[in-house]
Amino acid sequence: MAIALTGCSQQDAPSDTTADAPASALAIATFGEDPAAKKAALLINEDYMRGVVVEISDDRYEGRGPGSRGDDAARKYLADEMSALGLEPGAADGSWDQTFDLVGINASQPDSWTFEGADQSMTLKQWDQFIVGSGVQDEKATIDNAEVVFVGYGIQAPEYDWDDYKGADLRGKVLIMMNNDPDWDPELFGGETRLWYGRWDYKYLSAARQGAVGAIIIHTSPSAGYPFQVVQTSWTGVQFELPAGDEPRSQISAWLTEDTARELVAMAGFDLDKLREAAFNRDFQPVPLGITTSIDMAVDIQRAQSGNVLGLIRGSDSALRDEVVIYTAHHDHLGIGTAGDDGDVIYNGARDNGTGMAQILAIARAIKALPTAPRRSVLIAFVGAEEQGLLGSEFYAANPTFEAGKIAANINYDSGNIWGRTHDVTYIGLGKSSIDQIAVSFAAEQGRVVKPDQFPDKGYYYRSDQFNLAKIGVPAMYLKAGTDFVDRPPGWGRQQQDHHTEFLYHQPSDEYDPSWSFDGLVDDALLGYWVGLAITDADDIPVWKPGDEFEAARLDALESLRK
Ligand SMILES: [Zn+2]
Repeated sequence: MAIALTGCSQQDAPSDTTADAPASALAIATFGEDPAAKKAALLINEDYMRGVVVEISDDRYEGRGPGSRGDDAARKYLADEMSALGLEPGAADGSWDQTFDLVGINASQPDSWTFEGADQSMTLKQWDQFIVGSGVQDEKATIDNAEVVFVGYGIQAPEYDWDDYKGADLRGKVLIMMNNDPDWDPELFGGETRLWYGRWDYKYLSAARQGAVGAIIIHTSPSAGYPFQVVQTSWTGVQFELPAGDEPRSQISAWLTEDTARELVAMAGFDLDKLREAAFNRDFQPVPLGITTSIDMAVDIQRAQSGNVLGLIRGSDSALRDEVVIYTAHHDHLGIGTAGDDGDVIYNGARDNGTGMAQILAIARAIKALPTAPRRSVLIAFVGAEEQGLLGSEFYAANPTFEAGKIAANINYDSGNIWGRTHDVTYIGLGKSSIDQIAVSFAAEQGRVVKPDQFPDKGYYYRSDQFNLAKIGVPAMYLKAGTDFVDRPPGWGRQQQDHHTEFLYHQPSDEYDPSWSFDGLVDDALLGYWVGLAITDADDIPVWKPGDEFEAARLDALESLRK
């Protein structure tokens, strides 16, 4: 990463948030003192969690690929385990499984793609210069002689008084746009923190909302947070989606390398740097490039089914039990795929996300053991098809088992700390809601400090399941490993994580290893347990920080409760 990350905004985040009125101050002061809750907390322990990780990462689950028999087996195991703990089935039909359909889309990307200028044309090479996917769930994706328009960031954000489209008629056009969001001003789009507006999924949707037939994102490594190679590997082969609803869709979603985009606009007499500079301003207007293009792709469509496994602990307070705190951990991984160096083809996903499943099962076990259930209900949600683009949580958010305005908070776990005890804990989403205050207090009781996302430009908040709940207004806490390890030299934690990313992350080698430490997993699960209990028992539900990108969704959700 070439971006300077450690602006003061990071250091400021925790202390900023303590300045907010803590909605749950009373609960914080008293809950940690409750002897029954302390006793139940002992059930969140290494033995139990180790057993879960060993089981769920076993080869017989075949890497839990969505729609596979390993996926079925994993869902059955999770339901059986929750049943054994005494939870109730949490799906709307009274079962454990909230099933959903998946559509697998495999576009035959053309070898070349031609753009016509006024007096010359340019033909691009697939893989090296462009990657293109189908935006539609049809047998083919087509654009015919469509005009190409540069639209800056392709962002419409009323809360920042930002609109790159300015009412231009973009129906039937192909929009070419920059990645990320404006990052030079801390007051604008969270500064260097990537908001949803800076993510490719937002950009393609934004183009579709304009009636565009296609959208092209200009790749740069700093603006994407990863090299073009990641685009190449993750945008080829089968892409799973939920079945299309009535949301707008473009025919194609594409990426160009920066050099290719530079050449393309130069063919039309434009300078890419000047176009981008103009797009740094609020008064930017879309620029028709005087280029047209066509594409015709055959698309292979497959269908499959997976599900979210839901277990419920009903609240004890009759006035509050229709409100809920939701714990999430995705149960899917990558299934069976390309062999690793040792010929292993099973992507066991022991850390990703055997550890998260173990953490929320252990939390469920402790909450269930309380002599009196929490005032609000608790939903344990093992969501599916996360690795395919957060599809299970997207389905849940579209079909929630509690009204959106009654979901007090979400606590998410994905790929936990397998390296030991830490002085710190990473809270992705820190600085966004009043959950901060609660987390900071309980972490302090553990003798730990809470740190924000250490890679804010990568947009991790938008890359795990809590994001889909945030979109319907639910404030969330996503806990990840700290980096400051007890009795280890500075930098040791980062080294472990880097090593994991290089040799194990999303590889068949992400297998259970008896040398893993469960101390950090236990501490992080305990933190989620205490924070969850503080929220379930507080008088008021958490709130977004004023002006947060998801505050409007929350206000809408609360408003619709009044109707
Ligand atoms: Zn994961």
